[in-house]
Amino acid sequence: MTKVTSKKETPLMRQYREIKEKHPGTILLFRVGDFYETFGEDAILASKILGIVLTKRANGKASHVELAGFPHHSLDVYLPKLVRNGYRVAVCDQLEDPKKAKTIVKRGVTDMITPGIALHDQVIESKKNNFLCAAFVLDNQVGISYIDFSTGEFQLTQGAIEPMVSLIHGLSPAEILVAKGQKTEIQQKLNSNYYLYELEDWFFEIDFAKDQIFNHYQVKNLKGLGIENHELAIISSGAILHYLKETKHNNLGHLNVLSRLDFENCLWLDQFTVRNLELVQSAQPDGKSLLDVLDLCTNPMGSRLLRKWLLRPLIDPEEISQRHDVVSLFYEESKFEKNIGNILQNIGDLERMSTKLTLGKIGPRELNQMAQSIHEVEKIKEELTDRKVFRTFPFEIKDILACAKQINSTISEAAPALTHKGDIFKPHINSELDEQRDIRKNGKQHLVNIQQKAINATGISSLKIGFNNVFGYFLEVTNAHKNKVPEHWIRKQTLTNAERYITEELKEYEQKILFAEDRIVALEKEMYDQFLQKLQPFVPFVQKVSLALAQIDCLRGFGKLAFEQQYCRPKFSEKKSMNFQKLRHPVIETQLPSNEPFIPNDLFLDNDQQQIIVLTGPNMSGKSAILRQTALAVIMAQMGGFIPADAAEIGIVDKIFTRVGASDNISKGESTFMVEMLETSSILNNLSANSLVLLDEIGRGTSTYDGISLAWSIAEFLNHCREKPKVLFATHYHELNQLEKNNNGIVNYHISSKQIDGQVVFLRKLTKGSSNSSFGIHVAAMAGMPKNVLQRAQEILLDLETERDKNPKRKAPPNKAPQTNQIELFENKNKIWKSLEEELSRVDTNTLTPIEALLKLNELKILIKK
Ligand code: ADP
Repeated sequence: MTKVTSKKETPLMRQYREIKEKHPGTILLFRVGDFYETFGEDAILASKILGIVLTKRANGKASHVELAGFPHHSLDVYLPKLVRNGYRVAVCDQLEDPKKAKTIVKRGVTDMITPGIALHDQVIESKKNNFLCAAFVLDNQVGISYIDFSTGEFQLTQGAIEPMVSLIHGLSPAEILVAKGQKTEIQQKLNSNYYLYELEDWFFEIDFAKDQIFNHYQVKNLKGLGIENHELAIISSGAILHYLKETKHNNLGHLNVLSRLDFENCLWLDQFTVRNLELVQSAQPDGKSLLDVLDLCTNPMGSRLLRKWLLRPLIDPEEISQRHDVVSLFYEESKFEKNIGNILQNIGDLERMSTKLTLGKIGPRELNQMAQSIHEVEKIKEELTDRKVFRTFPFEIKDILACAKQINSTISEAAPALTHKGDIFKPHINSELDEQRDIRKNGKQHLVNIQQKAINATGISSLKIGFNNVFGYFLEVTNAHKNKVPEHWIRKQTLTNAERYITEELKEYEQKILFAEDRIVALEKEMYDQFLQKLQPFVPFVQKVSLALAQIDCLRGFGKLAFEQQYCRPKFSEKKSMNFQKLRHPVIETQLPSNEPFIPNDLFLDNDQQQIIVLTGPNMSGKSAILRQTALAVIMAQMGGFIPADAAEIGIVDKIFTRVGASDNISKGESTFMVEMLETSSILNNLSANSLVLLDEIGRGTSTYDGISLAWSIAEFLNHCREKPKVLFATHYHELNQLEKNNNGIVNYHISSKQIDGQVVFLRKLTKGSSNSSFGIHVAAMAGMPKNVLQRAQEILLDLETERDKNPKRKAPPNKAPQTNQIELFENKNKIWKSLEEELSRVDTNTLTPIEALLKLNELKILIKK
């Protein structure tokens, strides 16, 4: 490929190279005339991604350089495509009027778009926040800041590695800023594919960070922001503010005050819970997450807030109850719910519009949509009057109505999407604009008159007036009539079947019209920028109302869902227990075929009588479903929603932990057992008396001995610890049923099923007591395993069961790993192998005759059969 650098390059290419060097790692869109051009490697990339033609351009005497470009007015089409493909893009514009430039036009980068700082509707999802995050690690503590540039949200926090990693997974940022020296470490901790962008280490220093914050918020210390004790988090905020400036985002008026994300005030979900319960994303590509079921929002602001609520449910019963009151209203009055839903649907994304307004990036048409949306908000306000449950909502619309009024009285109803098209303003806003518009209008009429006059004078009825960029307005005469053309017309161009002429009169009017057109566009652009400035004071009011609208939308969605799916309003109590009647799984129940109803189950847990449920049952019987639906119901209830049950009384839960046997990590090639143990130990260290713990097939990642012992001792720990969290423990180790005998608060349950004609029928009823068979072979049959494999499995099972029956059961000693039937079985087998090994080691194959060998073989066979 041709190199862009060379001593003999053209001045334009030199300028390009100098700017490009200042922006490494980005695709540079370089404005040349009416085009944005890319050169060299960028051109090759751009042509591939954008599907535009790759050509070559002479670069002085030096050589050629690859070139690919597109018209400047298509920037909004092409730029998002580059960013969506994970590239950073710098937009380099002409900084002076090319007509006035004496040498080469001055150029500079005016905008920089990266995955974390994008505003384009084509890049960011409307229903999801687009977070730019910065992380800084020191001594097992992580400081995190995150910002959604499109909405202005800006928060920081810091804490131990596990909760911080969990937070990042929840945010799922589009881009994470890290210090150069920490990139590998953070990558390892996150253990997931994020777009990490490294900055020099010194941008992650406390004094630098403080300066950034002081400057941005115009404060002298951090006390007012309540973040002074969070050094690592402050460091990460400094990096974000610096990065925004470096990427030419100086206009940051829409950024909310930097606030601390308060973990103490929400239900803590560890990262495995978010993933295993499939809260925001299903594990299957075509599966459904809880968010998919809950999101009945009709406005994108509602959908974004819902996601946040889901990842951070409440723990204050008062606040939860306020939300439930609103949901009740929507549940009971479906007409009211529909009305509000329809109005919200007509309201645009006011939150993102107000950000674009701050940044001066809102187009005239969108500004009209903003005003239109504000008028719709007025309708919501009317609907809510006299409804007491909304009294706590910050719904003051006086100021935003004033904003809409200004837009309506200033911006033309048919305003274009982009500013460079002109015709933005209504008449009588600016006298010079009115004047120039008059000239343009009359000038055009005059052109029509000139055309008519020429037709009359020459008798050429087909004569036309046209325009092109090379010589402006012209008269076009077909060849058949060219002999009728008067002498004073000046011929400018010959086409195959026509000639083009200009006249003095035509040129005179052309000057006036062209000047007027240029002036109108320039004037309107200037006026538009000023008008946006004038609207700035309204931004905070729009943001406030946007939040209220998003809340109403979420709660309306909850009400609608509750009505449609027959959910109930959960009660909260002071007790440390949870009691569900006829609880269902909110996601599975929507996916079952209509002839297969979901079987509801009652469930009770407390800190005393029934603290740990050990749940056994055949594979596929619904053990995981019971575990998950319990946690999902708690989350839904504490988000402020209703739950899929007939009734429920819940003591506030403050943390949910989930561990699923590590077999699903095998594909990642990690030591699965190690991962499982690391994850489990983090639960044991972070428990509280109000925690809910789900353990699903824990210990599966290792051998039977290890697995049972570990599961056993974890259960004992949870039962004996001071906190006594509520635990649901699903396992296929039936041996764990023995725990119930020696430990108060551990209770055995199983999921009922029965065999009819050798077939397993799942009854899916949670029943007290233990089950004694795993039914695995039947599940294998259901999965279509070959008959001979199943038959052989049946034989082996029978064999193993007979062996087990031969040996008397031994009781597990208290607080020790269980000595169980299954273990004894293995011990027995081990003894046989041991004697086999001994026998074989005694055989000297060098001296053995064939007959002796046969006899030995027979001997060994008998040994195995014993
Ligand atoms: P296990 O954990 O015991 O292997 P799962 O909880 O994964 O079983 O359940 C297996 C499947 O059975 C689920 O995917 C779901 O389709 C179905 N299922 C589970 N519980 C119920 C229920 N209560 N009613 C109806 N179908 C259920």
